Amino acid sequence: MFKYKFIMKPIVIIGAGIAGLQAANMLHEGGIPFVLLEKQAHVGGRVQSEHFQGFTLDHGFQVLQTSYSEVQQSLRLADLDLSYFDSGAYLWKDKSWLSFFSPWQQTFSLFRALGDGIISLGDLVKLAQLWMKIQLDAKPLSNNPLTTQEYIDSLRFSPTFQDGFLKPFFYGIFLDESLTQPASLFVFYLKQFLEGKAALPKGGMGAISNQLLQSLPASSVRLNTEVESIEEGKVVLKNGETLECAKVILAANPTAASHLLDIPVDKGAILQSKTCYFSADEFPNEGKLLHLIPKAEESNILHFACLSKVNPSYAPAGKELISVTTLKTELSEEEIRKEMARFLGQEKLNWKFLKAYSIPESLPKQGFWNLIKQKALEKGIVLSGDYTQYPSLQAAFASGRLAAESAIS
Ligand SMILES: Cc1cc2nc3c(=O)[nH]c(=O)nc-3n(C[C@H](O)[C@H](O)[C@H](O)COP(=O)(O)OP(=O)(O)OC[C@H]3O[C@@H](n4cnc5c(N)ncnc54)[C@H](O)[C@@H]3O)c2cc1C
Repeated sequence: MFKYKFIMKPIVIIGAGIAGLQAANMLHEGGIPFVLLEKQAHVGGRVQSEHFQGFTLDHGFQVLQTSYSEVQQSLRLADLDLSYFDSGAYLWKDKSWLSFFSPWQQTFSLFRALGDGIISLGDLVKLAQLWMKIQLDAKPLSNNPLTTQEYIDSLRFSPTFQDGFLKPFFYGIFLDESLTQPASLFVFYLKQFLEGKAALPKGGMGAISNQLLQSLPASSVRLNTEVESIEEGKVVLKNGETLECAKVILAANPTAASHLLDIPVDKGAILQSKTCYFSADEFPNEGKLLHLIPKAEESNILHFACLSKVNPSYAPAGKELISVTTLKTELSEEEIRKEMARFLGQEKLNWKFLKAYSIPESLPKQGFWNLIKQKALEKGIVLSGDYTQYPSLQAAFASGRLAAESAIS
């Protein structure tokens, strides 16, 4: 599939997140020698799952969007045994939870949403107009100068729909309550959510990384192997070993990649999050939906979901698994419990705490990565990773594929 020069030395790929794994798969398919180096004991980077007391815990709440073209091309989706969220959310209104389903997927539920006052007729007209617009142009990176916040405000939806659904939904996608990511990204993600489905694989999101790993020869993957520096024609490992290489694909996370290229990272360039997992004997709502918390509630919690309702394999029989996500990595279990009790109308939350994952480097922000791109270009290093495009699995897959193509061209 590739046109390439005869290569004696391997291509070294630094980082076995989705981007690095994808680059490795592309090189392997093309018969190009490579070595994939990962500093952790597991592959997957930000896409990992842990099996704990019979529960499946993803390292941070996330979903696989089935409409992503790169996902469709790169994964054997049938082997992931996917279960799907319903398209919509539970909205918190007048101290109770109301279900709202996407009109594109459950037309009849619209009448209930209108009756509940979640959405107005005017909102429906505006949504239809937006729908037509995104059919024509939904490129993730375009010249639209507006931020997501400015763009949503310009659409003039009713306060209930905007503040109860649209904005909280996108706080969760961007992991950013100021919605400063470009409006083009909002339009792109909205299209994916309207047209595709959000899924959880059996065995957790980590099954995605494991599937990518399975296609690779074990001899070409080195775990627990941290790269300390990149020099002309070679990489130096933390253990002092030197590996000569034909080319370097740097697929480390943005701060690690910046560190290796000696580029400072702006504090505002990275978004953090924390997901806490609880188990319960039962959960009050049956829907396979995320519960969104509006900003007006002044809560530290962004959203929560009963994951075992979506994918029963996430919890042992007779138990439910609940994820609670916040942007405050310092928030304690006790504080989360207190807030959750409020949203469930309980005096004291009787759920059992399982584990929490703080992810200081959850998503990169747009607009901060020109310096590193420039430096990599000067040094002949091929960059790969979501931050080289935009935060998502789609971009991580695409950047891995493009890096492999670039490394052998
Ligand atoms: C909480 C959370 C929720 C998310 N939700 C979604 C979602 O719902 N949908 C979606 O599409 N995307 C989501 N994402 C984003 C998606 O997970 C990322 O875009 C994607 O996983 C990034 O992959 P990557 O390969 O670019 O980087 P990473 O996964 O960060 O991989 C980089 C790898 O490089 C390794 N590394 C770093 N330095 C070195 C070194 N010196 N030597 C060797 N190895 C090194 C790291 O250990 C890591 O394994 C979410 C992410 C998080 C954290």
